[in-house]
Amino acid sequence: MSLPQKVPVATLGVPRIGRRRELKFALESYWSGKSSAAALLETAKRLRAANWEEQRARGITRIPSNDFSLYDHVLDTIVLVGAVPARYGWQGGEVPLDTYFAMARGSEGNAHAECGNGCADPAHGPHDGVPALEMTKWFDTNYHYMVPQFSSDQAFALSSSKPVDEFLEAKALGIYTRPVILGPVTLLRRGKSQEEGFDPLALLPRLLPVYEELLRRLRLAGADWVQIDEPALVLDLIPNEREAFRFAYERLAKAAPDLRIMLATYFGALGDNLDTALSLPVAGLHVDLVRAPEQLEAVGRLARKDLVLSLGLVDGRNVWRADLCAILDRIKPVVAGWPLARIEVAPSSSLLHVPIDLDLETALDADVKSWLAFAAQKQGELVTLSRALAEGRSAVLAALKAASQAAAARAASPKVHDPLVEGRIAGIGAAMKTRASDFATRSRVQRDKLGLPAFPTTTIGSFPQTAEVRKARAAHAKGELSHLDYEAFLKRETEAAIRWQEEIGLDVLVHGEFERNDMVQYFGEQLSGFAFTKHAWVQSYGSRYVRPPIIYGDVSRPRPMTVAWWQYAQSLTPRPVKGMLTGPVTILNWSFVRDDQPRERTCRQIALAIRDEVVDLETAGATMIQIDEAALREGLPLRRSEWKAYLGWAVECFRLTASGVADATQIHTHMCYSEFNDIIDGIAAMDADVISIETSRSQMELLDAFRSYKYPNEIGPGVYDIHSPRVPAVEEMTALMTLARKRLADGQLWVNPDCGLKTRKWEEVRPALVNMVAAARQLRDAA
Ligand code: GLN
Ligand code: ZN
Repeated sequence: MSLPQKVPVATLGVPRIGRRRELKFALESYWSGKSSAAALLETAKRLRAANWEEQRARGITRIPSNDFSLYDHVLDTIVLVGAVPARYGWQGGEVPLDTYFAMARGSEGNAHAECGNGCADPAHGPHDGVPALEMTKWFDTNYHYMVPQFSSDQAFALSSSKPVDEFLEAKALGIYTRPVILGPVTLLRRGKSQEEGFDPLALLPRLLPVYEELLRRLRLAGADWVQIDEPALVLDLIPNEREAFRFAYERLAKAAPDLRIMLATYFGALGDNLDTALSLPVAGLHVDLVRAPEQLEAVGRLARKDLVLSLGLVDGRNVWRADLCAILDRIKPVVAGWPLARIEVAPSSSLLHVPIDLDLETALDADVKSWLAFAAQKQGELVTLSRALAEGRSAVLAALKAASQAAAARAASPKVHDPLVEGRIAGIGAAMKTRASDFATRSRVQRDKLGLPAFPTTTIGSFPQTAEVRKARAAHAKGELSHLDYEAFLKRETEAAIRWQEEIGLDVLVHGEFERNDMVQYFGEQLSGFAFTKHAWVQSYGSRYVRPPIIYGDVSRPRPMTVAWWQYAQSLTPRPVKGMLTGPVTILNWSFVRDDQPRERTCRQIALAIRDEVVDLETAGATMIQIDEAALREGLPLRRSEWKAYLGWAVECFRLTASGVADATQIHTHMCYSEFNDIIDGIAAMDADVISIETSRSQMELLDAFRSYKYPNEIGPGVYDIHSPRVPAVEEMTALMTLARKRLADGQLWVNPDCGLKTRKWEEVRPALVNMVAAARQLRDAA
């Protein structure tokens, strides 16, 4: 009797934070000096062992190693290749743990990490510490990585044995792993150089020997496969970059005899890089068939017949249970013509971006829960798929049936489908997406009604979320503080904020957002179609984890969400208080979104719900309503060719939200970034009456976008960098405004900080805003 052929099952990487966030607590304990490095490393070792054992127990056969990281796997790779910037004082050899964390967080720990690069805070004294590396989003995920910083005279040296050590660590436990490393081209491509015009990709020939040496060492340690991640292969590449892939893999493929490379691509289609990917002399290629199912046919047709194909079949980026039969049906034609011995099944990407285990969610609605799969459940799905391929569907009939039944139940559930919402979507007409009059007309009406001074002053919405505010919220959530007492507390905070804003002379006030836990969660909890979890944490960066809401059904707003708080705040003052809302695109981009309809359709539903709130605020008397779109830009697709379509519906959703009000009602929006040059048309097309943006850190660099483009509406370029604890002087702010006045007319300009103040302390906010008001007065007097 011959045993059935096995189809290997890979995970490509699993979450490293621990089921109960053990890594976070171990890190924070170490950083605060409460526990030793040895204790931290011991926790890390236990977490790795648990991950390996669990995967083995579930039937994963390509178990990854080196997917673990104390902070960030890109930072690990920077250390691995010895690309530690000079300012960290590293002299070669093994990189000490504290140097590693200095790169991650700055060398003064928390206080410093917060103030970011280039901090000149006098309160910090002369800086003996160093700022952290820059941090930014990893492709289109909400995971943040440390940005490698390269110089033209960059030297590289293999400076860490982590991949080898962790391979051996697993081997000692009797678990044979496939080490994962981040590929050289993606590493360089995601890095930056401060030297103008220098392209880090030029460093590739110097970098490759380090990778070659690592591969040799892994082979010596006993590895026969290595997974090299090159998600850059799903980006727009220029010929030079494609050539870099060929150059790199020609060499790496020969680095160690019998060490086979599984080249992993994910987060999208290979598209016009398919030929490049298929021309590389690697032993295996992983493709994302969730984001890009259509690419399977071409891959199957064009790939070398001796290539091992790793099929990314279940979603590594989202939380939905897979319809396994549908997947098997879809891949059948291609798999039929491909030797089973050269197939692996895998998630679309590493499971890093999904929560760990659905079983921890004991309070979730039972139906919703039956439609979900987190990292643990996804591994089960992969094993089922593998067995179905190797042994036939009948071998796993029960599991396949259960998955189909869950999919059918979800598709038919009244919890998902709300005919009223679907009817409203169908009824959206052009008029609902356009304000009644053009900006010039609105602006005249608003000026008459509002009577604001030149250079009006305002803030972005939130005031400090002090320890007291957080404590009260936690006590209320635990039932230790009654609803009435909690509300009374919030009212006192709000009133104090209003009084103080009046006192220092701000023109347009905010209520302070003390009642909000988070700018998305606060709304999600009041909307239909959203679910929230208790333990479904995913890593945002380092020890910061988030629990994104899960949008499972048609979205609607059962009742007003913010009107009472706005009314209360406005009742305290004759000055205008802005209504404060989170926009549909931001709510969408910061949630796990349903996969049974296009994102834009879900976004439209959210837009209608927030539109109802906008209209209710106006009816209650609000003359100004701010709709924050903090995450609009970060939702841009990876491929430029898809930007237009995205911006089309994203801008349309914003307009749908904002256009239900009269000309006299002033719509504000806020965005937390300044890199607008690419999308300035889209920003203008949102047609907000006033936009506030981040600029202070870049010295108004943003305004470059306005050199050739005449932004039509009003704009508040942030003059106070809220990411730093330092208090800007009056002259600094007037100087920034002077720069702004070179590009924009005085009548267009507002004076405001560059983001919400919730992360700051009152001791910082008070003097900063006093200075900001003084700066505006100086501008008025001089104008
Ligand atoms: N209104 C929000 C606040 O002030 C905006 C935050 C943001 O854009 N990130 O906190
Ligand atoms: Zn912001």
